Parts: sequence; C-alpha cells; structure tokens
Amino acid sequence: MNTKYIFVTGGVTSSLGKGIVSASLAKLLQARDLKVTIQKLDPYINIDPGTLNPYEHGECFVTNDGAETDLDLGHYERFLDIATSQANNITTGRIYQSVINKERQGVYLGKTVQVIPHITNEIIDSVKLLGENNEYDVVITEIGGTIGDIESLPFAEAVRQMKWENPKDCLSIHLTLVPYLAAAGELKTKPTQHSVKKLQELGVQPDILVCRTEHELDQDIRSKIARFCNVSSDSVIQSIDAKSIYTVPLLMQEEGLDKVVIEKLNIETKEFPDLIKWKKFLDNQANPTKEITIALVGKYVELQDSYKSIIESLNIAGVSNSCKVKLKWLHSEKITAKNVAKKLEGVNGVLVAPGFGERGIEGKIETIRYVRENNIPFLGICLGMQCAVIEFGRNVLDLKKAHTVEIDAETPHPVIDIMEDQKNLSNMGGTMRLGEYDCEVKKDSNTYKAYKDTSITERHRHRYEFNNKYLTFYEENGMIATGKNTSTDLVEIVEIPSHKWFTAVQFHPEYKSSVETPHPLFIGFVNACLD
Ligand code: GLN
Repeated sequence: MNTKYIFVTGGVTSSLGKGIVSASLAKLLQARDLKVTIQKLDPYINIDPGTLNPYEHGECFVTNDGAETDLDLGHYERFLDIATSQANNITTGRIYQSVINKERQGVYLGKTVQVIPHITNEIIDSVKLLGENNEYDVVITEIGGTIGDIESLPFAEAVRQMKWENPKDCLSIHLTLVPYLAAAGELKTKPTQHSVKKLQELGVQPDILVCRTEHELDQDIRSKIARFCNVSSDSVIQSIDAKSIYTVPLLMQEEGLDKVVIEKLNIETKEFPDLIKWKKFLDNQANPTKEITIALVGKYVELQDSYKSIIESLNIAGVSNSCKVKLKWLHSEKITAKNVAKKLEGVNGVLVAPGFGERGIEGKIETIRYVRENNIPFLGICLGMQCAVIEFGRNVLDLKKAHTVEIDAETPHPVIDIMEDQKNLSNMGGTMRLGEYDCEVKKDSNTYKAYKDTSITERHRHRYEFNNKYLTFYEENGMIATGKNTSTDLVEIVEIPSHKWFTAVQFHPEYKSSVETPHPLFIGFVNACLD
C-alpha cells in the first residue's frame, strides 16, 4: 500500500482540539494494526519553540533525537506509545531556513526563489519525508493555526498540491466550531460554512468535517452542514466536549471517523480497532479507589499547559494504580519560609518543576527544605533537582551561599555549574544538552526499585549540571548520586536514602510516559505518596 497522507486543518477559532482529534484518529488507525505517525506543522517563524516563553506556547516537548517541539507531540507520543523525532515538528522558520541555506549553496541554479514553488515544495518534502521508506502506512499532518491566517497560506497550498497530485492517497479533515447561541436556543452552522468556504477558496475541498460542539448535533444539522459544505453526511463528525481527552478516541469511533477515513482512502484493515488496553485505562481512570494530592511547585502555574507532560504523567501513573491524583498548584514565587508549612498542608507529595532563571527559585528551595525535613515524598525534575542540591548544600552542608551559576555567577559554592561544552556558546536556540542520554542506576535506590533496571535512557534539556567537585561531601552527608552518565560522569539522579522517598532527576521523565506505558518513576512517586 502507498503511504496515505491525512491533513488536519482548523477553522473558526484556535483551541478546537486539533491535536487531540489527530491523536485520537491516529490511535484508532493504529489499533487497526496500521503503522501511523503524526506530524505538526507550525506556521510561526521561530525555528522551534525551544526559545519561546512557556506563557506564549505552553510546554516545550523534547524528542529522543533532541528536537525541541510543540506540546502536541507529547499528546501524539502519549496516545500512540511511539517516539517522534525532529521530522514530526516543522515550523515556517525551519522551512525558510532550509530554503535560504539551499539558495546560498546555489541549489536553485540561478532561479528566483519564491514562496511558490520553493517554500511549498520544501513543505511537501518535509511531509513526504515521513512517508519515505514505507515506514508508515499513514502520516497524519496537523497544520497549526487557523485557516484564513496569512501565515498558514503556504501550508494550505502544499495540501492542495499534494491532494491534486495524489487524490487517492490524500485526505483533508477540517475542524470547525458549531457554537450554541443561548439567546436563540440554537446551534449555528454559519461559522462552519464560512470556514469551509475559506478553505475552498484556497483550492482545498475538505473530505471530512469534525465539528466541535457543546451540544449533540442532530441529523438535520448534520445534513445541513453536509449540503452546504459539499461533504457526504457520514463525513460530518461531531466532536463533543469530553471529560477526559483520553475518551476522545472512543467518541471518534462512535462517530465513525476511522471508518470513513479507511473507506475514503481505500485502506484494507481489520474490521474493528483493538482498544482493549485503552479501554482498561479508561475504566481505571473512571473508577479510582484511592486519591492523593500532589503539590506542583513551579513559576508558570497560571498557564497549566506549561507543565502538560508532567500533569499527564502523574495522572497516567495514578490511573495505573487506580488512584486519582489531585494537583495543588503552588506558585513558587509566593512560597516563603513562613508560609511553606501552611501551603503544603495536607499534600501527600511534592513535585518541584523544571524551569529557567531566577524568578521563584527561592520558593522552590524553601519547599524542598520543608519536604526534606518533614519526610514528605519528593520528586524534583531538572531545575527541581538543581534546587534540591542547592538546598542540601545550604542547609545540611552549611555552604550558606551555595547556588547555581545560572543565577549567581559569583557564588563561592557553585554546586550547580555550567557544563563544560556549554561555556562558549553564543546561540541560545537548540544548544542545550538535548535528547536521550544513558544513565547507570545504583541498585538499592528508589530509582532502581521503580525501573527495576540499572541501565536507563531518559531525555534532557538543560545547560547546568551537578558540580562533581562537591560529590564526596554530599555523599558523606547523605545525598547520594544514584544515577550517573557513565561516559561523561554527569550526575543524573540524586536521592536521600534516609528520607521516605526523595528523588531528584536532571532528566525529564515526563517526556517518556504514555497511556499504555506509564512511566516507572512517576509510578514510584505516586506509590510513595500513597504509602
Ligand atoms: N535552567 C536549568 C538548566 O538549564 C534547568 C533547565 C530545566 O529545568 N529544564 O540547567
């Protein structure tokens, strides 16, 4: 079978849930034994979201090969239980960078380089790249932004050309909104009609419409949308607000989305998707027998998308143990030695989040002092681990001014130092220690108990590291490096064995957790909180 390409665009407004619908369709096709991957095309000019403030764009997700990507890739990985890569997230900036580099190399042989065909060809090539070598039966490409935006025009044109060249192997799905006007007591189809017209003006006829709605769409509405938008009525799919994003695959299956897709693309597969594991997860999620509260301490708590993968990893780990994990969001900037006890009252465990820069760091350190002294289960991630090291240095080892050189370059005790190969970098984008690295875990540690393995591989995103000059001093006093990278000797995990469960990691376990393979470290943490 030729690789099939499915394009998912959005209209009317952003935040309709294109990522979740794409991931849900991918899940349904994967559950029919098809090899599926999903790609996100983002129409902004940043080369990648790595340099974006989380307030702008939510979490930056990191792949095994070290790409800093859109948070939708996290959804793709959690739904599909597959790894994505640099090829799964392309921005306008990256497309232009590649075209401009080729122009400088003389690749275009003196031609005038233009949006059409050079930019559009580059987009098409990056879509087809995933279909090469027949690695996947289906490539789903989600196009960020909203149809009608100036910046998404070249992407829509690339879709038009691919469909025109290969109508049998390409399919267009358009997500729209069907709002309910309370005053009129009616669902309104006009925004959908307008959005489809916009897409048609660009030469793309959608094959399937997924209509986001707060109320059920009856047959009349569906027929009306079908008639005015030129699609068959079984191709008008309702996407009703769901309690949990993980129920969306089943809602899409009830609506027949996967069935219409395989019919239209003429794909032969088994008759029904096998969703046994998925349904088991949903069942556990809906019927928890226990409940815990975990405090999530960070400085971007106003925008919870900034911690998307952490939230989902905790939720998934909880579900695997029939436990509902409630989160208590704590703004690190507002935590002080005086109020920390009050703030952490009643929580079963504390997670100190990753981050950059000075804001809120003293609150994180105060939090860690409190959990260490009061034997509260603790998981520190990346900056969360660095803060744990600073706290132990200041309050246990009496290195009063211990700090990370990220914040205090002049500290007399740089217990967190800049990595050697980071010292002379001038570019900020894409230059951190990124992607997968091996870690050797000591037996007799929380980490070993969680992973049941001494060799693990996890993803990184940082510039600073534990300063090994202090390691003996730390270990003699009870903070142990239980995980190290054997080739560089970098400390990747620290633990306090005398504490109930105190584990802090330099890597990001949240990037490697999926619905069907919950992450061992999050399970270990949740279990410690349950104890
Ligand atoms: N700012 C820290 C560093 O760069 C931690 C980064 C993070 O938490 N992802 O090392």
